[in-house]
Amino acid sequence: MSLPPFPFDNSYARLPEHFHRSAQPAQAPDPELIRFNSPLAEELGIDVNESDEHELAAVFSGNSLPENAEPIALAYAGHQFGNFVPQLGDGRAVLIGEVIDQHQKRRDIQLKGAGRTEFSRGGDGRAPIGPVIREYIISEAMHTLGIPTTRALAAVTTGNAVMRERPEPGAVLTRVAASHIRVGTFEYFAYRQDTDAIRTLADYAISRHYPSLMFEDQPYQAFFRAVAHRQAELIADWMSIGFIHGVMNTDNMAISGETIDYGPCAFMDQYHANTVFSSIDAMGRYAYSNQPEIGYWNLARLAECLLPLFDGDKEETVETAKAILTEYREHYSTTWRERFGRKLGISSLTQENEPVVHELLGLMQQTGNDFTACFRELTRLASQGRAKEAATTLFADTQQARDWNARWVALLDAPEVMWQTNPAIIPRNHQVEAAVSAAQQGDLRHFHDLMAALESPFSATADTSAYRHPPTPQEQVARTFCGT
Ligand code: AMP
Ligand code: MG
Repeated sequence: MSLPPFPFDNSYARLPEHFHRSAQPAQAPDPELIRFNSPLAEELGIDVNESDEHELAAVFSGNSLPENAEPIALAYAGHQFGNFVPQLGDGRAVLIGEVIDQHQKRRDIQLKGAGRTEFSRGGDGRAPIGPVIREYIISEAMHTLGIPTTRALAAVTTGNAVMRERPEPGAVLTRVAASHIRVGTFEYFAYRQDTDAIRTLADYAISRHYPSLMFEDQPYQAFFRAVAHRQAELIADWMSIGFIHGVMNTDNMAISGETIDYGPCAFMDQYHANTVFSSIDAMGRYAYSNQPEIGYWNLARLAECLLPLFDGDKEETVETAKAILTEYREHYSTTWRERFGRKLGISSLTQENEPVVHELLGLMQQTGNDFTACFRELTRLASQGRAKEAATTLFADTQQARDWNARWVALLDAPEVMWQTNPAIIPRNHQVEAAVSAAQQGDLRHFHDLMAALESPFSATADTSAYRHPPTPQEQVARTFCGT
């Protein structure tokens, strides 16, 4: 028996030849399913009801591709830590096809870790189980937190050993994305001065992600503005839950506005604006508080690619791009205020009263408060009519804390929304690391338990209490690794 056909409609494969290369997933000697996301499969219209785990493992390892799959690796370039690399591309990922989901949205289905492609350079094209589990946990957590993200459909071990610092079990993650078009995809063609390709790609991206812009007077400017807006909102979302992406290279910024490419990403425990977890980010380029400006920098790289499509002479097109980039900053600030206003139960946080947030973050930073737990405690106090106790409960009752507390109480008018925006449970680094290291030893219980706890991040039930606590000093994880 084999899986019923997927409802594939592979539009990217129909784009010109130089957009992609055909790529065959490597055969896995002994594929084993470690987790499957049935609700997501259903949303995608993939019917797996009659299938057993063997069939699913065979399909999602890449061993037996469903009918009408057209496996390709996508071409892209990118700025990595500020340095341009003219050719990156899918070196360890194969797009097997696209489906139209139940909401009429086109979604990519990609096998990550399925072996070498024409873009692999020196790499082996494989993924160890560690990063696969990390991405599964964190991308699905982002989804339940309500943040745009690529999703995880399946995780399979291959039976291969993947050589990193030491041999690790090999695995494949099936990633589902609104698309895999990145800022770096535009840079790939801009570097080659292939304006036709840039136009083809922009038209494709507009029709796929921003179809209402197709009939605008200036569709490419409108496209740039729309991408910038979504990026502003996405980064404001990250900031509001203490998420640090860790590798905001232009090849890891999706045009769709989804969070993509989970590497050394992490959620902050103790609040500090300059927090960096990634072991490869020595200069702190992608620190928590730098993320909005890195978004700006990446969008400026996208603008450079799109300028030839804008109306007007060189100077005019540059002015247009700059104006849209300024809008990005404004839209980010507005969205940030909206998100943090909700976190503090303030229905209209304005530019004038936004210092109430900065002061709170400053107090948290001085006292080493846990970001997530602190907002959750403020939520509890506010909903019990005890907001004025915050200074004592959380900040040792200093004068500075009392002053801040009084300002917050004066502005607090919507305590009930705080429950829906301040999660009780996030995938804390020490929990993720525990799930990863157990999985590396073949024990998947931690992984599955953590996934269960993350299903309803905003409700605190008795059986998830173990996942709500900040780490003890011994448990704290200071560094995260790509491990690719
Ligand atoms: P990332 O770190 O995921 O942003 O990847 C950057 C680039 O390195 C992309 O072109 C990847 O396809 C490539 N890459 C990362 N790991 C591997 C690997 N194990 N084998 C081949 N290519 C890889
Ligand atoms: Mg990447």
